[in-house]
Amino acid sequence: MMRRLCACAGLWLAATFATANSATVPDHIFVNARVWTADAARPTADAFAVTDGRFVAVGTNEAVRALAGPSTTVVDLGGRRVVPGFIDTHWHLPARRSARLDNAGSVEVIQQRLVEYAKGLPAGSWVVGRGWMPTDFPDRTAHRRYLDAVFPDRPVVIRDRDGHQALANSRALALAGVTRDTADPADGRIERDANGEPTGLLKEGAAGLVSGLLPSLSAGDTYQLLLEELAAAVSFGLTSLTDATDVGLTENERAAVERAQAEGKLTVNYRAAVPFEVNTPPGQPARYAAMRDSTREQLLSYGFAKGMIDGTVDAKTAVMLEPYVGGGNGTPFLSQDDLNRTVAAYDRAGIQVALHAIGDGAIRMALDAYEHAARVNGPRDSRHRIEHVEVPSPADLPRFAKLGVIAATQAIFATPDTATLENYAPLVGPERAARAQPFSQFDAAGAVQAFGSDYPVYPMDPLLGIYTAVTRQTRDGEPEGGWYPQNRIGLETALLHYTRDAAYASFDETRTGTGTISAGKFADFAVLSRDILDGPPQQLLDTRVLLTVLRGRETWRSPEFDARPKP
Ligand SMILES: [Zn+2]
Repeated sequence: MMRRLCACAGLWLAATFATANSATVPDHIFVNARVWTADAARPTADAFAVTDGRFVAVGTNEAVRALAGPSTTVVDLGGRRVVPGFIDTHWHLPARRSARLDNAGSVEVIQQRLVEYAKGLPAGSWVVGRGWMPTDFPDRTAHRRYLDAVFPDRPVVIRDRDGHQALANSRALALAGVTRDTADPADGRIERDANGEPTGLLKEGAAGLVSGLLPSLSAGDTYQLLLEELAAAVSFGLTSLTDATDVGLTENERAAVERAQAEGKLTVNYRAAVPFEVNTPPGQPARYAAMRDSTREQLLSYGFAKGMIDGTVDAKTAVMLEPYVGGGNGTPFLSQDDLNRTVAAYDRAGIQVALHAIGDGAIRMALDAYEHAARVNGPRDSRHRIEHVEVPSPADLPRFAKLGVIAATQAIFATPDTATLENYAPLVGPERAARAQPFSQFDAAGAVQAFGSDYPVYPMDPLLGIYTAVTRQTRDGEPEGGWYPQNRIGLETALLHYTRDAAYASFDETRTGTGTISAGKFADFAVLSRDILDGPPQQLLDTRVLLTVLRGRETWRSPEFDARPKP
């Protein structure tokens, strides 16, 4: 009933509010704003009213002010830009704290950051880092000698930016018992030098030989880490996070999120995955569906299964239709038969599937599996997703709209940094680089595109993602004109992918009613320091979130918010 709206002069009201309970006055009204609603029926407004965590009216200042009663708090937003709360459809709760090695650029910087970070750790404990790229190393070749030079006795393991390869030092390899005689695991590779000695570089599943030794966080530490991550998320205007970790939440993580929810400290809609299990026991997908249904109204919900088909381009483990420049190719993590059977089993139980597929070969496998499921189970509103979906074959683009498959892209992946220009692009070659991260082509093909960050691989700041989608430049404005600028999209389109379309990808446009500022939906929104819709895209880099509201509750207020201009 909240969905039936009446279009009164200058004002859209939720029908229940307008008619059922004339005594109800809004808890809050927000006036004097520039509201971008993401709602095609009413794209802009000056003001809105909130009652019991929902928008109950969106319209002009006069019309909304007229609703105020004696108990209503009126908030003057001083002409600030308001957008729906951002929805990150691909985010991860970090498994542990680690030294950040992003944009290091050289071995020396990696060494310095690790040494600095290790100073704060108990003596002799593991030193863990993440965020390096092959281009940080001489000849683009990571080797344990660079870590041994600064940590001869202490175990060190550092993950690359994408999390698909790790570099271990000699001490870590020794603790893991990895020697020249150790066989490669089925799902990964131990890189070796000309003499057959492990170089320390461990690809895909081989990284587990070392990372399996890392002490996991205690339940209390996990809870603290979660609260820190949530505090960061709300400061970026995020109101919904989809945790895309493929095994689902660990026991500690689940306990942490549940505790945060129970204590009123869960400040986002938190959507967690269930495992995508090949040869899943009969009845298991139905149990997952029951879990989803029982959490439907909560902030913490379970709604989808996350699987992996391939790795990454940078690690040369993404599965391409044609080999990489210079040879080599990724191997799918599972066969097409296993994929088809498993996707069909989840689809039959009504569980949304999200498959990590980056190379055009892996993307085709995912589309084939979704097509197979629709064939054997009958078409339905399944909204299956492909995560990252970086280098699709042009022939496959129309299949997204045809099959109703969502392109779950990460705009910030198109950042033309050194790693992209000197490793990624040369590996795929110019023809495929020109169709990498093709945001505009997904839109032109009629696909629903939902944005995410893949945090902690990349920063979670949605404004930075939007900047990248719109410019395809680095923060320094390089290269001039943008990297393959034909794949850029407009700013409002990028905003829709982080709000309305992301809600659709999460079945949230109806479930909790998020993604747009519309009467009847949950009052999830963000107030920005600048009007990002008026001015050059470069101002996205200087724009801050002043206020974040989830279901009518303030989750973030910047000191700057109180200093906003008032009439
Ligand atoms: Zn991810």
